[in-house]
Amino acid sequence: MTASRSASFEGAIEFAQDLIRIPSLPGEEGELTRRVVDEMESLGYDEVRTDELGSVVGVVRGGTGPRVMLSAHLDMVAEGDPAEWEYPPFGGVIADGCLHGRGAMDIKGPLALQTHVAAALRGQASGDIIVAHPVYEERGGWGMDHLTRPDGGLRPDLVIIGESTQGDIAIGHRGRAEIEIVGTGLAGHASAPDRARNALDLVSPILAGVADLAARQDSDEVLGPASVVATGVEAVPASLNVIPDRVTVTLDWRILPVDTEESLVARVEDALGPHLRRFDAEEGGERGAGVEVRMATQLQRAYTGVEEERRLLSPGFLMDPGHPIVTAAAGAVGRRTGTGPARVRPWVFATDGGWTCGVRGVPTIGFAPGEERYAHTNTERLDLDEARWGYSKYLDLVPAVQQAAGA
Ligand SMILES: [Zn+2]
Repeated sequence: MTASRSASFEGAIEFAQDLIRIPSLPGEEGELTRRVVDEMESLGYDEVRTDELGSVVGVVRGGTGPRVMLSAHLDMVAEGDPAEWEYPPFGGVIADGCLHGRGAMDIKGPLALQTHVAAALRGQASGDIIVAHPVYEERGGWGMDHLTRPDGGLRPDLVIIGESTQGDIAIGHRGRAEIEIVGTGLAGHASAPDRARNALDLVSPILAGVADLAARQDSDEVLGPASVVATGVEAVPASLNVIPDRVTVTLDWRILPVDTEESLVARVEDALGPHLRRFDAEEGGERGAGVEVRMATQLQRAYTGVEEERRLLSPGFLMDPGHPIVTAAAGAVGRRTGTGPARVRPWVFATDGGWTCGVRGVPTIGFAPGEERYAHTNTERLDLDEARWGYSKYLDLVPAVQQAAGA
């Protein structure tokens, strides 16, 4: 395609302002997608398309070298009470040297920078630059899981995620899993407890098992410890004059990259086992044996109409700090203040890198301007001096990591 708009930092910020003005909750990214497609076409991308879920993929063709994927995401978290914002959440206001609003740094500002950087590198890249902005990142990454699916998905050689790092190179994060432990009994009227088997009796042995599990969490040198905690108990039926026949204990588990769905469920079952067997022995029954452990799920619906019951798992990942791509990235970016290579560290939150690297095994790093502490808050902002620096560093970063991946 011929470009009708040229890539620049200023153009990227104007584009980011437009993006902030288009709200895009998960499942409602359609209008934003059209704006992103329009920008890629105007910038002369060689290929622009959307997939079944409505994620955007643009390609700027390069040489035969490694294919790098730049990725932000299209969705945002809710804005909360607009009255609590100093600047309107969907205004795209520039003031005090910052771009303000929902998505300014998570992630429409960096999305716009990446989108322009790829066009600016036309003719200079040793391999294709794939710019992939998926839907549904904020609810576990369905969009990226689908984009990189083993049958027919994208196969880049390396990935740069545009979640804010404040100019550092990010190399991983813990993941998150939501697990449900479901115990059953026999419902009955509260006036006749002898005829019922109260499902709530199972909560005590279940929580004792969870406490054992929590005490046995592994730690990673870089990512820190995994942690698991019970965050909810729900009894059904909910009427307070009925003995419930079902109880669900929900766990929030911050996991290390080695964990899989199967291993997580098995570890919960192992931890509960002794406590439930003791409960059964004391009760003279077999109720503990009927306790079921499963991944929590949520029905998700893309704006294109596709629906899927998704397990609530955001995988973690970790790159070796000495990986040639990490070293090349840190060297190319450097420090904004001071000298030497960029700092290399994990993120505190989960990203789509859990899918690209943790699950699909593609080397993945993160780089973007913006302070993580502003993410998901009503003071969200992107410092424009830092963003300008980040844009220029991206122009060095992409060729450097492509070269490192090809070496
Ligand atoms: Zn984000």
